[in-house]
Amino acid sequence: MSPTKRAFDYIVIGGGSGGLAAARRAASYGAKVALIEKTERLGGTCVNVGCVPKKVMFNAATVRETINDAKHYGFTLKDQPDFSWRTLKDHRDAYVHRLNGIYENNLKKDHVEYFFGPAKFVDRTTIQVQDDQLQAKKILIATGGHPIYPKVPGAELGIDSDGFFDLEELPKKVAVVGSGYIGVELANIFHALGAQVSLFTRTDHILRHFDSCISDTLIKEMEATGIKLVRRSGVTSVAKTEGAELPLNVHYTVEGDSNEHTDAFDCVLWAIGRAPNSRDLNLEAVGVPINAKGFIEVDEYQNTPISGIYALGDVCGHLELTPVAIAAARALSNRLFGGSQFADAKMDYTNVPTVIFSHPPTGSVGLSETEAQAKYGATNLKIYQARFTAMFHSLTDHKPPTFFKLITQGPEEKVVGLHMIGRGVDEMLQGFGVAIKMGATKKDFDSCVAIHPTSSEELVTMR
Ligand code: FAD
Ligand code: NDP
Repeated sequence: MSPTKRAFDYIVIGGGSGGLAAARRAASYGAKVALIEKTERLGGTCVNVGCVPKKVMFNAATVRETINDAKHYGFTLKDQPDFSWRTLKDHRDAYVHRLNGIYENNLKKDHVEYFFGPAKFVDRTTIQVQDDQLQAKKILIATGGHPIYPKVPGAELGIDSDGFFDLEELPKKVAVVGSGYIGVELANIFHALGAQVSLFTRTDHILRHFDSCISDTLIKEMEATGIKLVRRSGVTSVAKTEGAELPLNVHYTVEGDSNEHTDAFDCVLWAIGRAPNSRDLNLEAVGVPINAKGFIEVDEYQNTPISGIYALGDVCGHLELTPVAIAAARALSNRLFGGSQFADAKMDYTNVPTVIFSHPPTGSVGLSETEAQAKYGATNLKIYQARFTAMFHSLTDHKPPTFFKLITQGPEEKVVGLHMIGRGVDEMLQGFGVAIKMGATKKDFDSCVAIHPTSSEELVTMR
């Protein structure tokens, strides 16, 4: 039987952050849109195994810390509070499930036709999904990525960030391997909720690509609270001892030390990066090139070299953040379907703010000091810094650090970088991001009257 062929104005492959935003924006202009998602859950990484359930876990960790601090504010907790990971997981999963339903309803409301199943290119204008063939002159690839595993014996005994969200119980002792966004966030969550945590990093640093004020401050705080940093380490294998309380033996080496080391855990979490979902799309059939790591390369308008085929979000590997995928998707749909006023619409990838939901959280926008030195020269920069204890912690015995760094350039002291770590900076950054996007100078910061008593007032009173 020959497949059913259906014609559309726009086919969107991937029902995640970028795909959903692209489909709905195109449909708002009256385009006939098909959206294809291979899993049974709409929302992609962010909603199902990323930002959303992660933030719930971050919130739970914050509640735990608040309970610890409560006595300093006069609250007596009569009994040691019981924590149930399973209850938290049930509530979190139910919330995510509700979101899946909301996304499906939104597609219906916007008249986007939703197809379930893995999509594959047949030719430049045709996509196969299950028994259907869909045709359109414009096709968007927004298929995201997946976590990777190292090629070491026993790697399959560990879990990845997707597996983190499947855990039914809090492990007792966890090895987190990798110290980027995911490794740092999940290590902090595990630790705050009561697990013993070792974080394996292959350098002396964590969050290597961030300003040193963030990585240096956070590393000290993590160690001070009891997270073990295993620096300059490389895991060589993982082996299982059935029946042991901590059944996973992690064998590793440490640079400059000829001994092989072993430590036992009941959970090993790989957080060593992600790879794009590009290899199952039959891109060879249409000539869309991918680079050595599998990422699809696009120009500033999200065009692949093949006319009518576009790509964005994590499958392109540039700033893998939900709001980036959404903004790129909306700009593209505006350009393709929004009429002449959007003829030049494109995503601006500069000064994108980003937060790491560690404990305490971090926030960054613009250039790190090292990047600013390379771009403008150290003599053209003036750096302002503030290190203090947030007022909330004046009463508590544990005093997490707060550190702000403002990087300004040229005689007018244009702000080219802002880096922060400390209580509340995750909510603080967005507004300062607007100012920096508008080209704010140090004088503009200073001209805004401080809000007292807050941590953010330090940013408008730096000297
Ligand atoms: P995705 O959201 O991954 O969507 C791609 C979709 O395409 C998926 O649903 C997939 O099933 C589908 N698909 C793949 N192949 C096919 C195919 N052949 N046919 C049909 N469908 C297909 N970002 C933030 O901004 N803030 C955060 O706090 C944050 N936390 C994160 C925490 C974790 C643990 C992880 C892993 C990521 C986090 N991110 C965060 C990153 C964010 O989730 C991604 O940048 C974002 O989801 C990318 O959107 P996307 O549309 O490119 O891909
Ligand atoms: P990252 O690229 O941030 O970090 C990968 C980490 O793995 C690095 O520390 C890297 O070390 C380490 N690594 C790589 N290979 C190995 C290896 N063989 N052995 C040991 N360590 C290794 O990727 P993530 O997977 O953490 O996150 C993916 C993306 O998802 C992020 O870049 C971010 O865009 C997004 N994300 C955003 C979040 C947010 O907005 N809050 C939260 C979570 C994810 P090294 O530093 O030495 O290179």
